[in-house]
Amino acid sequence: MVLTLFFIALLSCVTSIASAQQTSIAIRVLPDSNGRVVVEGSCAPATAWSFRDSYAGVLNLGSRVDGLRLFDAAGTEITNRKIAPGQFQAATPASKFRYEVSLAPPLRPADAAKVSWLNSDRGLLMLRDLLPVSPSGASAKDHDRTKDQAVGEPATLRLSLPEGWVAHSNEAQNAAGEFEIADADLAVFAVGHQLRISTATTAGMTLSLVAAGDWAFTDSDALELAGQVVKAHRDVFGAVPSRRATLILFPFPQSGAPDKWSAETRGASVTLLIGKLPSKVAALAQLSVPLTHELLHFWVPNGLTLDGDYDWFYEGFTIYQAARIAVRLDRLTFQEFLNAIGRAYDGYSAGIDHDRWSLVEASKRRWTGGESSVYSKSMVIAFLYDLKLRSLSHNKHSLDDVYRNIFREYHSSEIRGRQARQGSDGSEVVLKAFSDYSGMQDFGRLFVSNAAAINLAEQLAPFGLQVETFGLRTRIGVSETLTRQQRDLLHDLGYNDYVRSPRQRKPS
Ligand SMILES: [Zn+2]
Repeated sequence: MVLTLFFIALLSCVTSIASAQQTSIAIRVLPDSNGRVVVEGSCAPATAWSFRDSYAGVLNLGSRVDGLRLFDAAGTEITNRKIAPGQFQAATPASKFRYEVSLAPPLRPADAAKVSWLNSDRGLLMLRDLLPVSPSGASAKDHDRTKDQAVGEPATLRLSLPEGWVAHSNEAQNAAGEFEIADADLAVFAVGHQLRISTATTAGMTLSLVAAGDWAFTDSDALELAGQVVKAHRDVFGAVPSRRATLILFPFPQSGAPDKWSAETRGASVTLLIGKLPSKVAALAQLSVPLTHELLHFWVPNGLTLDGDYDWFYEGFTIYQAARIAVRLDRLTFQEFLNAIGRAYDGYSAGIDHDRWSLVEASKRRWTGGESSVYSKSMVIAFLYDLKLRSLSHNKHSLDDVYRNIFREYHSSEIRGRQARQGSDGSEVVLKAFSDYSGMQDFGRLFVSNAAAINLAEQLAPFGLQVETFGLRTRIGVSETLTRQQRDLLHDLGYNDYVRSPRQRKPS
């Protein structure tokens, strides 16, 4: 996921906040193969025009913006000068604008899920990197959404596409065919020719799949898998965060390795770029990894009104929870689940400075050295928390309850809408939720707010799990002898010693 912390329900906001100075935008995709768009529109008068230069580790975005022309309300052109790539200063306030953006696909394939691009067949338009950050002139830090007011204002968008192309988005469309955008930061558009759109409703959520390219699985296989994952998450959280969601499933715009994928979730839109594995079983297994993870982001953090950098929870714990859901759906065996924790432990151990910062501190530097803590170490700590809570409560409680409790209390409901932006600190809320169970009061302090070193063998032994090391690789397995309580706990997590086939599980 993403730096987008809140999902705002579209319709309620658009109708309640629409104002006289509503931003209106038109984006024209040029029909040549160079990947360019022309953006025109009107907004509140501004002199400072600033485009985001970086997003989630993708740099130099500002230099893609060119040929900015500004006008006042009467249509008189206003001179502007370029201060830096993507930074422009107008001589007097301007309320109408026109510029071009070059959208050649990014060089690193993984970046193509995070920023706008176009090639001759299709593309992704993400308003976050196509529109100015703050036409009203306020400067805004890239990750600090509370200051990004201007770009977060409601807007209407008209798209003009080359002949034969279509667009699809999770944004609502009005009778005139314009998209009504509640929060431009969250708006993602799939455009192209031969896009395939299919829809299914599961667990109260209507999920649209926008697909292009060919895989070893069909669109309905992908939509069915996504529906199973949504339902499994809904069962944990007790409710869905929105009625409508979109999954964009594209090949990489550049040639990429078949076993690679890259994904990002904004609001209730998942963008997933995936390589092409030849076998259907392998391709679906590959698809299930990002799907279980990204769809969980609809709830955490996108469905929550929490602020601050609590990436350790909404990334690392999400990896853990997604793996648990994959076991529950028989997409992952119990041993594969343990192997994933072993790999996360190895990733954490190999990280430079791996115990220098607490998870809370590492989350503030996710793109500058904190990544292995935010993802790998935090996944291991999620496992420790889940094991401990299950054990202390004799399998009455688990991490599932923590998710459900947080969602019940901090869900950004459609009624509260934009008011809900003033959220509580994510780390504080989660740590409080951790300590709500008897015996778990110290866990957050020991493992999350302090820079604790993890001795994996010592931590796992009480739960009947043993750790072996092969060179730099860690393998977690089930101990030869188990107490009854250890056996019950591991069964609840998906372990089954009654049958030989790892895919079969004890009926529960
Ligand atoms: Zn994520």
